[in-house]
Amino acid sequence: MKTELTGMTLEEMTAWAKRQGLPAFRGKQIFQGIHRGADFGGMSNLPAALREKLAAEAIAQPAAIQTRRVSALDGTVKYLFSLPDGNCVEGVLMKYRYGWSLCISTQVGCRMGCRFCASTLDGCVRNLTAGEMLGEVLAANRDLAEQEAGEATREEPPRVSHVVLMGSGEPLDNYDQVTRFLRLLREPEGIRLSLRNVSLSTCGLVPEMKRLAEEDLPVTLCVSLHAPNDEIRRQLMPIANRYSIAEILDACRFYLRKTGRRVIFEYALTEGINSGEEQARELAGRLRGMQCHVNLIPLNAVRERNLKGVTEETVSRFLRTLEAEHISATRRREMGDDIEGACGQLRRSAMDRRGAGK
Ligand code: SAH
Repeated sequence: MKTELTGMTLEEMTAWAKRQGLPAFRGKQIFQGIHRGADFGGMSNLPAALREKLAAEAIAQPAAIQTRRVSALDGTVKYLFSLPDGNCVEGVLMKYRYGWSLCISTQVGCRMGCRFCASTLDGCVRNLTAGEMLGEVLAANRDLAEQEAGEATREEPPRVSHVVLMGSGEPLDNYDQVTRFLRLLREPEGIRLSLRNVSLSTCGLVPEMKRLAEEDLPVTLCVSLHAPNDEIRRQLMPIANRYSIAEILDACRFYLRKTGRRVIFEYALTEGINSGEEQARELAGRLRGMQCHVNLIPLNAVRERNLKGVTEETVSRFLRTLEAEHISATRRREMGDDIEGACGQLRRSAMDRRGAGK
């Protein structure tokens, strides 16, 4: 089996190079080459024989773009990345005023079982490695550089400036690899992304939320709340049987105290379940006094699920009620609606086309 080098820190890569009988500076060159998005063949500062040896024995770029769909509505790009073992995961690249934001996956599938989500339908196949997560970012960077190359010549090619861990998988269920990935993102010799530009979304794994608060990895924590009380939450999310909303909110306050970063609550509005004015008022009551923000998303109906989204009017009413109660809230902009932008949808349809249903 080939060695995946992408997940190594600079220190580890240097030590690895030494074990291979190479001078230490080769480790740094390989590290920089990988973070630039190069394959071993493209690392022209390495001797040809070493490049060949590395290509035969190691992996530099573990995520390859298998499918690429561009939204005609807003230019959002949806990727299906293939991994070295033949599995695939999704990513979404969105253009904002402030830069390019990439939504990445952290697991192949997911075992949390949320009733509205397509990613969890077949459970969790496996965790992604830190290198594979970085690989998603590097693949998008290469794609951006290629796509924009034809346009006006610029000094620096565009790059992913923001990363959100909101694709398939529960990031805190893959804690060690996810935190390793976050550290790699900000390596000075690497792509040097500020963790201020990174958001991590969780369904609310309380012990790991607290652990993350103490890591010195100050990402924006997003919590998929989706309900104002435990009874409603249990109808939508099996994880609600393990942790109560009160415990989740405590962990959020702890996160805020430790990192100084306000938490964002995600709330998918579902017809007849959590979207009435009464639920908006109950939610406001629970969040009152907390430094936080609520992101409202009309539920994206997934073919395999029998939950319904809501009308524009329901979203506005919910939003107005929260605002009247002085809770900071916005309606999340929907992007890539024409390219199966929502979680897990593209991977599922790719698997359906393969015919195996898996
Ligand atoms: N496991 C993490 C991150 C992945 S899901 C989490 O639960 O937060 C990213 C976000 O999309 C979560 O808020 C999730 O609840 C939401 N989501 C999943 N399926 C959805 C759908 N069909 N419609 C709207 N939001 C959905």
